[in-house]
Amino acid sequence: KISYKQGKQPHAREHRLIFKNVDREGYDPSIECYLKDGGYEQLKKAMGMERQAIIDDVKKAGLRGRGGAGFPTGVKWGFIPPTNTKPVYLICNADESEPGTFKDRYIMHQDPHQLVEGMVISCFAVKASLAYIYIREEFPEAAIILEKALDEARAKGFLGKNILGKGYDLEIYVHRGAGAYICGEETGLIESLEGKRPYPRIKPPYFPAALGLYMCPTIVNNVESLCHVKHIIEMGGEEYAKLGTPNNTGTRILCVSGDVQKPGYFEVQVGKVTMGEVINDLCGGLKPGRKLKAIIPGGSSAKVLRADEKFKLKDGRELTIMDIPMDFDTMAACGSMAGSGGVIIMDDSRSMSWVINNLNAFYAHESCGQCTPCREGSLWMKKISDRIVAGTASPSDVDELERVANNIEGKTICAFGEACSWPTQSFVKKFRDELKSGTREELEGKVVNPETVLA
Ligand code: NAD
Ligand code: SF4
Repeated sequence: KISYKQGKQPHAREHRLIFKNVDREGYDPSIECYLKDGGYEQLKKAMGMERQAIIDDVKKAGLRGRGGAGFPTGVKWGFIPPTNTKPVYLICNADESEPGTFKDRYIMHQDPHQLVEGMVISCFAVKASLAYIYIREEFPEAAIILEKALDEARAKGFLGKNILGKGYDLEIYVHRGAGAYICGEETGLIESLEGKRPYPRIKPPYFPAALGLYMCPTIVNNVESLCHVKHIIEMGGEEYAKLGTPNNTGTRILCVSGDVQKPGYFEVQVGKVTMGEVINDLCGGLKPGRKLKAIIPGGSSAKVLRADEKFKLKDGRELTIMDIPMDFDTMAACGSMAGSGGVIIMDDSRSMSWVINNLNAFYAHESCGQCTPCREGSLWMKKISDRIVAGTASPSDVDELERVANNIEGKTICAFGEACSWPTQSFVKKFRDELKSGTREELEGKVVNPETVLA
C-alpha cells in the first residue's frame, strides 16, 4: 500500500498511473527508488517485443496526446514514412507553458525516471537513436533533475550504447529553452533546437513526423504522453483502453486553479468525472458564499464556458456546465477544448474585463511576430482591453476587440493565432454586456480608478 505525504493524499475519485509516485511518502527522484518500485521492467519487456507490436499497442490503447491537441499518439508514430532512410528523432516537449497547466513539472521533479523509461521505449519503437527533452527555461530545477536521471540511467545500461545488451543505442539530451511560449509549438521548438529563432513552420503539408528536426522524421510528444507509454506496455493496449471512455481512453491529469476551496492536480480516468464533480468533489466546492461565473476548461487557449450555458449536443445529450464529462470529444462538442488539462474556475467575484486583459497581455507578449494578423492583432487586443479595464474604452471598443480577434483566427501560420483569438472571441460573445458596462460612456464620465472597476 502506498502512503502519501500528509495533506497530499490522492482523492478517492482519482486513478493514479502517472502520478502514482508524486507526493509519495519516502519516494525521491533517484534511480534506486525507481528500481525498487519495478522501474525499467517495462523497458525490458518492450525491448523483447517487435517494434511494430509496441506501436500497435499504443494505437490499441487509444492514447491521445496530453499536451493539448489530443492527437492519437500511435497514429502520429505511424506517420514516419515507411521508406525512410534518414535518422529519426524523438523530442519530449517539456515546454509546459500554457497558463493554467502545471502537471509535467511535477512528473519531472518527482518521478523523472518514469519519463526516461517512457522515452526510451518510445525511441526504441520508432527507431530513434537521438532524442531531446526540450524544457522551458523557467524549470531550471527540473532540468537538473532530468540530467541526473539520464546519467543514472546511462550508468545502469538503460541508456547509451547497447541498451540492455540488445544492440540498441540511444542518447537523450536535455535542451533548455530561453523563456518563449512559442517554443512549445512543435515546429517553433524544432527551429529553436536547430539554433534558430523559433518561428513556427507552416503545417500542413509537412508535419514533423515526416519532416522535422534537420528535415528528418521527428516525433514530438508531451511529457505526460510519453509517461503513458510505459503503462501501456505494462497493461497491454487493450487493457489500458478499458480505462476512461471510448475514444477518450486512459487517465489524464487535471490542473485546477482559481476560485475553488482546494485547487491542485488530480489524475482521473478520462471522461469518468464531470466538471461538477471536479469542482465539488475533487476541489471541495467553490469559496464560501460565491457563485460560479465561468470556466476555462483546458488551458488559457480554450474558449470560456459560462456557468449558465446549456449545451445541446448532436448525440441528443443536453448538458449544463456541471454535467460536462472531462473528455476531449464532449468538451469540443460544447464549443471549447479539454486542451492541456488546465481548468481555471472563476466565481462571481471576477471581473471579466480583468481576465481578458490578463490573457491578452500574455498573448501580446508571447506572439513570435512572424505573421502580421497575430503580431499586430494580439497587441491591438491588449491595447483595447487595457482601455476596457481602465474604464477609458467606449462601448464600440468591445465590438472592435471582437473584430480584431476574428481577423486573426484562421489567418496565421501556427495555432497561436487561434489560441489568442478564441479566448477573446468567447469572452466578448459571452460577457459583452459586462465588458460594455465598464466602458467610458457607461460610467458617465466619472473619473475612474481601475481598482473601482475591478471591484
Ligand atoms: P495540431 O492539432 O496541429 O497537432 C497535434 C499533433 O499531431 C502534432 O504533433 C502534429 O504534428 C500531429 N499531426 C496532426 N496532423 C497530422 C498529420 N496529418 N500528419 C502528421 N502529424 C500530424 O496541434 P498543435 O498545434 O501541435 O497543438 C495545439 C495544442 O497545443 C492546443 O490545443 C493547446 O491546448 C496545446 N498547447 C499546450 C501547451 C502546454 O503547455 N501543454 C502550450 C500551448 C498550447
Ligand atoms: Fe508567430 Fe503568431 Fe504567427 Fe504563430 S501565429 S507564427 S506565434 S506570429
